[in-house]
Amino acid sequence: MSRTPNRPYCIGLASTVKAMMLQIDTPEPIISLKFDQPFEFHCIEVDTLNKRPLREVSINFKAGRVLYFVADVSMPGWYYILMYAQNELGCSCKSPNCEHKEMLRQHQNAIAA
Ligand SMILES: [Zn+2]
Repeated sequence: MSRTPNRPYCIGLASTVKAMMLQIDTPEPIISLKFDQPFEFHCIEVDTLNKRPLREVSINFKAGRVLYFVADVSMPGWYYILMYAQNELGCSCKSPNCEHKEMLRQHQNAIAA
């Protein structure tokens, strides 16, 4: 017997609380990685509201891409993925109040100084 879902409320998660993240075993708060060859990358989709991993996702990157990983302060060992696209820095947390871009900029300024 099958039923058609007809309830007005949503049982799924809002997309805003899902983020692509990576678990890295390092004390570094910020990591940068450049790929000289096309690269298939395994990251984890995380429910950032409840702090739990949802599923593994593979993403393909072109050669020459630089990825940045910025640690989540509330989830030790978990990193958000940041990347430049058309000179615009994007963060996998997708939050309008993203603090990771600023953390990365400050980190880069500290290296350049
Ligand atoms: Zn962010």
